[in-house]
Amino acid sequence: MKRQLLSGNESIAMGAAHAGIRLAAAYPGTPSTEILEAVARLPQIYTEWSSNEAVAVEVGLGASYAGIRALVSMKHVGLNVAADAFMSAATTGVRGGLVIVSADDPGIHSSQNEQDSRNYARLGKVPCLEPSNSQEAYNFTRAAFQISEDFDTPVLLRPTTRVCHSKSVVETKETISNDAKATFKHDHGKLVMLPGAARERGPKLTERLKKLAEYAETSPLNTVISGSTKLGIITSGISFHYAREIFPEASYLKLGISYPLPIKLINQFSQQVEKIVVIEELEGFLELHIKAMGLSVHGKDYFPIEGEFSPDVVSAAAIRAGLLDVQPHKSVAPASSLAKRPPLLCPGCPHSGIFFTLSTLGHRSTLPGKITRTPKLTICGDIGCYTLGAYPPLSAIDTCGCMGAGISHAAGMTKAGLEEKPLAVIGDSTFMHSGINGLLNAVYNQSNICILILDNSTTAMTGHQGHPGSGASSAGQPVTKISIEELVRGAGVRQVTVVDAFNLKSIRAALKQSMDSPELEVIIIHGDCPTLTRKRGKPRQINTRCDDCGACLLIGCSAIQRDGSSIIIDQSVCVGEYCTLCQQICPKDAITDLESTV
Ligand code: SF4
Ligand code: SF4
Repeated sequence: MKRQLLSGNESIAMGAAHAGIRLAAAYPGTPSTEILEAVARLPQIYTEWSSNEAVAVEVGLGASYAGIRALVSMKHVGLNVAADAFMSAATTGVRGGLVIVSADDPGIHSSQNEQDSRNYARLGKVPCLEPSNSQEAYNFTRAAFQISEDFDTPVLLRPTTRVCHSKSVVETKETISNDAKATFKHDHGKLVMLPGAARERGPKLTERLKKLAEYAETSPLNTVISGSTKLGIITSGISFHYAREIFPEASYLKLGISYPLPIKLINQFSQQVEKIVVIEELEGFLELHIKAMGLSVHGKDYFPIEGEFSPDVVSAAAIRAGLLDVQPHKSVAPASSLAKRPPLLCPGCPHSGIFFTLSTLGHRSTLPGKITRTPKLTICGDIGCYTLGAYPPLSAIDTCGCMGAGISHAAGMTKAGLEEKPLAVIGDSTFMHSGINGLLNAVYNQSNICILILDNSTTAMTGHQGHPGSGASSAGQPVTKISIEELVRGAGVRQVTVVDAFNLKSIRAALKQSMDSPELEVIIIHGDCPTLTRKRGKPRQINTRCDDCGACLLIGCSAIQRDGSSIIIDQSVCVGEYCTLCQQICPKDAITDLESTV
């Protein structure tokens, strides 16, 4: 037995590795990204960044069909993308253990919505396990592989942001041998879901769920902690720790398996306490099912349905509900002196010049003292670093829904009869994830839109993971790099222009030409992500020719700031000649490198 300080994500990776997985697939997404990164450090396990979450589940399921244990991980919104593949896995069941991690993000720290993945477990009639700390993340992951094989089911593991990213000491166990040979056993009735076979699987899934519910009654993953009989708390995941802090005297039923529920265990627990309260983040999932058992419990009438819990949130709700007289303690508030910083593109970001050009062409940015004009151009954005182009001073994104939606949003607008030609802006990783589907649709249905693919050859927002167009594997090894330009031409796009992200004149010319053209046009804009390359050139400096017009501020570079009455460039972060965007837009030629400054 070894003791290590691990985050929840590292513990899931370690638990899976020690359970003998031979394959792990994922699409990066906060808060789940570090799971695959941690597995990728283990050379004996094949890892991949799949092009999207549905593909990741399909790859994992293929390995499972060959009798190999596999781990698939994603964030909660990724499970929407993978829903079809997830339901297929739920229907056919598995051979080798298959664990699908969907990390929820209560409080929307880094997502486009809050949603509760436990509902997918119910939809697929598969078990859902909820770890509340790193040790449980390790133990539950190991247990999940055994449950998967014992019950012929994929298992949904649902950590939340706080569990994924906080660290605690984990005791690990010995590794289960993983040298089994991959073999495929033909079984049409189980694996080929033609209607006849699928109809036969239905009763098997119902039976599986019944057996899982019986297992949940005595599983060590569900624990009772006896305390005062006045208050019984039913809880799961990280909410358990918040609740214990606020109600140390209460009795607890902590559900490590949050679906299916152990009905007998819950009934027994309810008979031992005077009042039952369910404390759970996000939806009243446990509460709904417990109420359906006919028990009278409180839950979302006391505790919030939105946002992340904390001891303060739980105690404030408990006071409002009359469960507590006074707040037992107040957490330490963040230091008030910390500067509030809006989300910004990094200095030297290749997206800055594109959004600046879109912003000026679209009448969105205005120099200080000038009258604001009605914005022109309709710009459909997507998910990635470049979503930050929505913030001032760039203000150059009008829609942003889910991964890959921007191209189809624009196509929908043009088909709806929008007079002007709409633009779609998408990054290379998101294009590979699902944007390509929108492109194929737009070509096929002759949607005359303008698509800008911002290619920085990485998945920058989640920390520079590889993708099919990056030329780098999950372990950072060089692999075949799929050319976006060839892919786009192969999809039937006739008008493709490739420009340099740091050349404002060519971006402007390409945009004008594409906007005037009656055809579907794709502009691929290449520019390295500065935080990946870490290249630093001679920083720029503002000289005495500056008349304080403020034009350079419109590029939205965080290295350029107003300092009292003058404008300065922060020398410590400017990437200099690898960018020069500010230099290109200064009308007074007042920005130069340090050496040529007079
Ligand atoms: S550096 Fe150039 S763009 Fe910036 S305020 Fe001065 S004159 Fe204007
Ligand atoms: S060259 Fe200008 S725009 Fe580029 S990083 Fe430096 S200050 Fe920012």
